[in-house]
Amino acid sequence: MSDIARRRFDCLVIGAGGGGLRAALQLAQAEAHVAVVSKVFPTRSHTVAAQGGINAALGNVLPDNWHWHMYDTVKGGDYLADQDAVEYMCRTAPRLIIELEHQGMPFTRLENGRIYQRAFGGQSQNFGGAQAARTCPAADRTGHALLHTLYQQNLRARTHFFDEFFVLDLILDEEGYCLGALAFEIETGEPLLIEARTTLVATGGACRIYRTSTNAHINTGDGMAMALRAGIPLQDMEFVQFHPTGLSGIGVLISEGVRGEGGYLVNSEGERFMERYAPKAKDLASRDVVSRSIYTELKEGRGCGPSRDHVLLKVDHLSEEVIAKRLPGIRELSIRFAGVDPAKGPVPVAPTAHYTMGGIPTNRFGQVVAPVHTGPEEPVPGLYAAGECACVSVHGANRLGGNSLLDIVVFGRAAGNHMLEYLKEHRYHRPTPNHALDRVLARLARWDRKGEGESVDQLRSDMQRTMEQHCGVFRTQAIMEEGVAKLEQLSERLQRVVLRDHSRIFNTARVEAFELENLMEVALATVYSAAARKESRGAHSHVEFPQRDDRQWLKHTLYGREKRRIDYKPVRTQPLSVDTFPPKERVY
Ligand SMILES: Cc1cc2nc3c(=O)[nH]c(=O)nc-3n(C[C@H](O)[C@H](O)[C@H](O)COP(=O)(O)OP(=O)(O)OC[C@H]3O[C@@H](n4cnc5c(N)ncnc54)[C@H](O)[C@@H]3O)c2cc1C
Repeated sequence: MSDIARRRFDCLVIGAGGGGLRAALQLAQAEAHVAVVSKVFPTRSHTVAAQGGINAALGNVLPDNWHWHMYDTVKGGDYLADQDAVEYMCRTAPRLIIELEHQGMPFTRLENGRIYQRAFGGQSQNFGGAQAARTCPAADRTGHALLHTLYQQNLRARTHFFDEFFVLDLILDEEGYCLGALAFEIETGEPLLIEARTTLVATGGACRIYRTSTNAHINTGDGMAMALRAGIPLQDMEFVQFHPTGLSGIGVLISEGVRGEGGYLVNSEGERFMERYAPKAKDLASRDVVSRSIYTELKEGRGCGPSRDHVLLKVDHLSEEVIAKRLPGIRELSIRFAGVDPAKGPVPVAPTAHYTMGGIPTNRFGQVVAPVHTGPEEPVPGLYAAGECACVSVHGANRLGGNSLLDIVVFGRAAGNHMLEYLKEHRYHRPTPNHALDRVLARLARWDRKGEGESVDQLRSDMQRTMEQHCGVFRTQAIMEEGVAKLEQLSERLQRVVLRDHSRIFNTARVEAFELENLMEVALATVYSAAARKESRGAHSHVEFPQRDDRQWLKHTLYGREKRRIDYKPVRTQPLSVDTFPPKERVY
């Protein structure tokens, strides 16, 4: 199988979102030979859709410091985050925001010229005191500004781009070294082997496993599934964030920035119900808390509309000027998708799948760490992960708004730095063994099947419904176990899927089939991990075990694909330079 096209680089970055591009920039500026592969044009990566902003304790609007940011992040994650990584992220944040500003990112500004900062959920001053304002926006199009800035910087640094190439799988040799990946060009269907001494997976999240999701259609967890197929377990997959304010029935995101600017939620009785659930933080309590509160309102019959399936987000008390200046994109989305102008009437919203807290386990240098032959965990040589596909873990059981854009730039950069170190010690490419390649080429050939059978669309929608019904905001043991059984059946049906019987099969249909395989892997990881955790923590609300149980469950889940094995590993509770934040009751 040596006749397929090959290209060689020092570094391969899979994914051109903020995580991949920040890493590539670090590498290219140090004159490493770096290739970025993306299945869509780079600036169409999901990072472009981020609205509200990016967190850093700049203290431009209200007093702030990184230690308070760290406390909020650890508490927001319900104490499951690794505190060394959280400290590193929060300390590095201000420097990286200023760096982005200098690279040309058009942040919204205050009268005095400094970067404007808005209040977001779960932010406090002085370790749980008054509301803080820590989120730096570029109006409500922060991700757009960030991604374009990083893309331009990469063009300037001469990063090599493979646009619209779909990566199938990582290539590892028998000693466990990562040697690159096999991709195919979506336009031509031609396979391409990209050999690299270091490979970074930065393929983003997987919330398309759910029916209603704020995520783009491309967020199918490809990198997570690649890791599983390479024998690497996924960490903390039971923790999926449901954003409280997706447009009802559609899922399009209405940013937390709306509540940060003074918007609030009401039920069918016109009551501002968050005052009952979170007396202090109210509408700016952590996302898991607000989503559960909305569900409880709906369950108790105080939902709005004919099917009582949503609540209302009120914004019309804010001035036209604030809406026009700080929330223009939200206004547009709401008019286009819900037919409501937020300046004139309330917006119908409901909790929607939004963010994957779990992912490929890494340390704070971005190295993928995995148990070797189920022994103690060690870095996988040459393999890195950063961004939403990774679990470092700074978000623990629940991510705070504005912390993900921060995560991707902080750990994208950290991974880039460590890859440069690795290159110094590993000067030569290792040869790619044929059998490793053959396995992946066989997967590519499999999707030439056409004729009568299951369709990709039908199976995907059955899977998304199953996830919605069996692994949503509130979970019971019986419902989750039924979900496990149903997903195993769906996964068997995958074997019978054929592509539609046109005279020729389009490569885009092949891509959708591969994405469905990946979604199925991630969905299985999610339900198996959820059914195993018998406590409630952050985004995982187990109805029969409503309390957090630190004695038995202050640990990370590891799900392995073989035999659906569940293991656990301890939380790194020791920060780098400050005292640990020990678990305490989480109230807002
Ligand atoms: C609507 C929305 C709003 C958000 N708002 C905010 C916010 O205001 N603040 C905040 O902090 N966070 C926000 N988030 C979360 C945050 O935007 C994401 O977590 C983050 O941008 C993910 O970045 P990433 O680099 O990890 O991945 P992405 O930006 O998702 O990029 C993934 C890349 O991987 C590539 N890729 C994937 N699979 C393959 C494959 N098989 N082959 C080749 N390429 C592949 C894709 O083409 C893409 O380039 C928001 C998320 C959403 C969905």
